[in-house]
Amino acid sequence: MLEQKKIAGTDINISPLGFGTVKLGRDQQVKYPSGFKIPDDREAIALLQLARELGINLLDTAPAYGSSEERLGKLLGNKRQDWVICSKVGEEFENGQSRFDFTPEHIRFSIQRSLKRLNTDYIDMVLLHSSGDDVNIIQQYGCLEVLEDLKKEGLIKASGMSTKTIEGGIMALERSDIAMVTYNLNEQAERPVLDYAQSNNKGILIKKALASGHACLEGKDPVYESMKLVFSHPAVSAAIIGTINPQHLKQNVEKVYQVLQN
Ligand code: NAP
Repeated sequence: MLEQKKIAGTDINISPLGFGTVKLGRDQQVKYPSGFKIPDDREAIALLQLARELGINLLDTAPAYGSSEERLGKLLGNKRQDWVICSKVGEEFENGQSRFDFTPEHIRFSIQRSLKRLNTDYIDMVLLHSSGDDVNIIQQYGCLEVLEDLKKEGLIKASGMSTKTIEGGIMALERSDIAMVTYNLNEQAERPVLDYAQSNNKGILIKKALASGHACLEGKDPVYESMKLVFSHPAVSAAIIGTINPQHLKQNVEKVYQVLQN
């Protein structure tokens, strides 16, 4: 079983492995090594049950992941309390294309919509879903301050940003709780964000820990090596890995467990 730990600077306890849900809701404009079929309800429920049995309590979703939020709301049923849910705001995926809106009005609208879709009255973490223009988004719209207000109103428990730059990651951590950062065997450029988080008691979640699956295409024991890299940095609270294959899910938990035991 995976041991849960508090995300630095928050009261939120999560497992070191999170379950990414892009593939539960979206199959267009994704960068995976091969095509896939979105799991039906029976398959998705089985994956969620297996994840929970293996000790995973963190779910990562977003309005931009197609039907992911809505499906989770339906599929979790009365089990919502068993999970810590991370969702996002700012990116919309419509008619096969992304568009971005970080205005305060859109943020409030989007979070109310996520609450409805997820069938809940609070979301554990909400992150700005960056287009890549991290610093501008933070400076221009005051959106991290809007998330702070939503925290005070009790609609969300923690705030942050899924970033794509070092400057943006650090700026987000100066003004919120958590940064979600890319860090894998192929890409480690954003490591200074992890270092900043470590020195300032802030939370780090890792996205694309397997380089969207590309890291698994070569090398000996790539999942183990990927997890060894990710968890060698003490700032990391969890790696969010997306899988719709139960065997991969089991393997990922096993490798995280092995790495954390060593
Ligand atoms: P990832 O977790 O690095 O890789 C997922 C891919 O790896 C899937 O295609 C999966 O295929 C494959 N995989 C998983 N475990 C495997 C294993 N043991 N062996 C072989 N292949 C394996 O990348 P990601 O899906 O891009 O990102 C993960 C999650 O992070 C997403 O679901 C999402 O929640 C979040 N994310 C956030 C952002 C953002 O901007 N905030 C961006 C990207 C992703 P199978 O399904 O076949 O296992």
